[in-house]
Amino acid sequence: MSLGGLGIPRAQDIAWSAFTGSVVDTMELQKMILKEEDRSVEMVERVMNGWNTAHKGVGTISVEQFVGAEKTQRDLTYRVHEYNLERLKKNEEASFRATVLGCTMNGSGAWLKVVPDRHRNLTMDPQSYARALQFRLGMDLYEEETKCGFCAKMMDRRGQHAGICTGVHYALHNAVRNELCSEGRRAGRQPELEKAGILDGARQNERPADVFFPLYRGSRGLCVDVTIINSYGDLTHSAESVGVNAQKAAEAKRLNYEKAVVEAGWKFSPFPMETLGGFGEECDEILRSIGEGLARFSGISTSKATKRLQERISFRYQKFLGIILSTNLGDT
Ligand SMILES: [Zn+2]
Repeated sequence: MSLGGLGIPRAQDIAWSAFTGSVVDTMELQKMILKEEDRSVEMVERVMNGWNTAHKGVGTISVEQFVGAEKTQRDLTYRVHEYNLERLKKNEEASFRATVLGCTMNGSGAWLKVVPDRHRNLTMDPQSYARALQFRLGMDLYEEETKCGFCAKMMDRRGQHAGICTGVHYALHNAVRNELCSEGRRAGRQPELEKAGILDGARQNERPADVFFPLYRGSRGLCVDVTIINSYGDLTHSAESVGVNAQKAAEAKRLNYEKAVVEAGWKFSPFPMETLGGFGEECDEILRSIGEGLARFSGISTSKATKRLQERISFRYQKFLGIILSTNLGDT
C-alpha cells in the first residue's frame, strides 16, 4: 500500500515470490529432513530460475543472495511491486503520473486499513466507498464532463475537480479539522476549535488555529492550521515528485502565520493533506503527539496508536470525498 496500491496484489505478481520464498526460507529445514543437501540446493536454483523467467526486467536473483534469508517472499514481492511502480511513473500522461505519485504519499492509503466500526462512525456506504476507490485509481467516474452540483463549474470525468471545488472545500477541510479535534480530546489534549484571540493588534480577528492544543511540547500552545490541497495542482511538478502541492501549501501557510503566531507566544504548524489522501510531513509530529495521549489511555504502543489515528483521520476525509463524488453522480 505504501507503493500506491490498494493492498490487493495481482496473483501473477506474488505467486512466484510466494513459492520461491517458501522454498528458500525452508532450505535448512529441507536439508535436515531430507539429508540430501545437493538436491535442496538444486531445487532452490530451479525455483529461482522460474522467478527470473516470470519477472524479466525486475532483476535477477541467485541462491547466494538469499543465504540465511528469513523474509524472502516479502523481499521478492517488494521488488516486483517497486518495478511495477517505476513503470507506472513513466506513463506519458502527467495526470496519471500525479495519481501514481499522490497514492505513494505518506498515509494516502491509510483509510483502506480501517476496520469498519459503526459506533465510531467508521463506515462508508458502498457507493461512496466505490467512488473514493475509483478516484484513488484515477478512473473515469463520469462518462463525460458534467456540471458540478456544488459550484456549477465543470466536473472532469475523473472527479479531480473535487480538489479545487469551492463548494466542497470547507466540508472536506472541516471533516479533517473536526476529526483532529475530537481525537485530541480522546487523547486528553484539551484542544479548542477555531480559538479566538490568538493574534493581537490589526490581526486580532484572524484565526490561525483550526485546532488549538494548549501546553504543547513545552510551549504555551500549538496552533494547527488544517490545509486541504488539490493533488493535481501544479501538474508540472506533482507529476514528477511526491507531495509538492502539500509542501507548497504548507510553506504559504507558514509565511502567512508563523511569525505573527510565534511573536504572540505560541507555536504554529500547518496540517497539510492532499486530495489523494497523502499527509504532508508536518502532520507526523502532531499525529505522534496525539498518538502518545491515545496510547496512554488505550494501553497500546504509541506507534500503533499513531497509525490507527492516522487511519481514522484518513478515513473521515475519504468518506467525505466519496460522498461528494457520489452525490455529484446522483448515486442513490
Ligand atoms: Zn465544484
